[in-house]
Amino acid sequence: MPDFDSAQFRACFPYLQQDCALVYLDSAATALKPQTLLDSTLAFYQSAGSVHRSQHDAQQTALYERSRQLTAQWINAASTDCVIWTSGATQAINMVANGLADQLEADDEIIISEADHHADFVTWSMSAQRCSAKLIVLPINDQWLIESAVLQQALSPRTKIVALNYVSNVTGTQQPIADLIGVIRRAAPQAFILLDCAQAIAHLKLDIQALDADFYAFSAHKLYGPNGLGVLSGKLSALEILSPSLYGGKMVDRVSKQRINFNPLPYRLEAGTPNIAAVIGFGAVLDWLQQFDFRAAERYAVGLAEHVKVRLQTYPKVRLFNSPQPSTVVCFIFDGINSSDLNTLLSEQDIALRVGEHCAQPYLARIGQKSTLRLSFAPYNTAADVEAFFAALDSALNLLRE
Ligand code: PMP
Repeated sequence: MPDFDSAQFRACFPYLQQDCALVYLDSAATALKPQTLLDSTLAFYQSAGSVHRSQHDAQQTALYERSRQLTAQWINAASTDCVIWTSGATQAINMVANGLADQLEADDEIIISEADHHADFVTWSMSAQRCSAKLIVLPINDQWLIESAVLQQALSPRTKIVALNYVSNVTGTQQPIADLIGVIRRAAPQAFILLDCAQAIAHLKLDIQALDADFYAFSAHKLYGPNGLGVLSGKLSALEILSPSLYGGKMVDRVSKQRINFNPLPYRLEAGTPNIAAVIGFGAVLDWLQQFDFRAAERYAVGLAEHVKVRLQTYPKVRLFNSPQPSTVVCFIFDGINSSDLNTLLSEQDIALRVGEHCAQPYLARIGQKSTLRLSFAPYNTAADVEAFFAALDSALNLLRE
């Protein structure tokens, strides 16, 4: 018996059951959605009320808080108080940057890296600018990895924040994050550590208590969940330090003309009516996911991508930007062929992939490219998808080389 049944998994995705479905190889941008999410969302909008407001909200509130519990279990957070709903990884990272602004003084140092997505790179660049802090951008080596020695050298008593990407959306590279965190804790124990887990959440079984970072950010839509929902998690002691970025209803306990008392976490950082349908839907997705062996599913998807890499290498003039570890991401160009033209021809043959800078211009600069093509595989992809890609590629290359 195989430990992962891709056909069973694939059958859960309504998009893939349609005749017009593309060969979807863009799951690093956003994953497809399972039927359970659609069912849960419909059920919510067929019901009445909000959460945490009225007596008639009790059932929705229970489902809503159950999603928080399922999320806490999924990432092994210390408690549900450490799971804060946001609109996505981007908002979660911004909430940390804004929430720590009071802690930053001129000449403090913020460390990021060339491997960062713009959600991290731009946010911390702006934060450094606003607080007159110094921004240090760590270089990555030829395997797209941050080296411990390089990090060690950058750390100082002035290091206030180190914000790192865990798994790259450009090359699929996984940073040796536990080792890097160890280096930071030893050399700069005063620093806050944030991990951008937007990609990691879909590929690794995160155990945030085993890792020793302070903050973790991810989006639900990368893990088969809804758009417009993300999570900020981390150590309760670190989350407690964050000033709220948003003020309003439900984040306050007592309000008078004289005094405002905030609620405890997680509510203090969740002002306003939340995205209830998305939260409940994400809980349904996590429930559904439990029936599959997550690691076996990942191995299966990685197998497809690794096969593609081997086969692509037989093509003349191809250049691959591979992660040092096997991964679901295939990042490549063909020398002498415009990647956008190739993407257009592939798209016309119903292959859904990504071309461009992948919201990571500093990473692309490091690779030395203005643009790359990217295929990203998920456990619902099949060997037939791979064949469809190569058939489309052959035909596109023939046209371009005519
Ligand atoms: N970081 C990484 C590595 C990502 O891949 C993404 C999404 N492409 C983000 C951050 C931002 O996620 P979102 O747009 O869902 O907020």
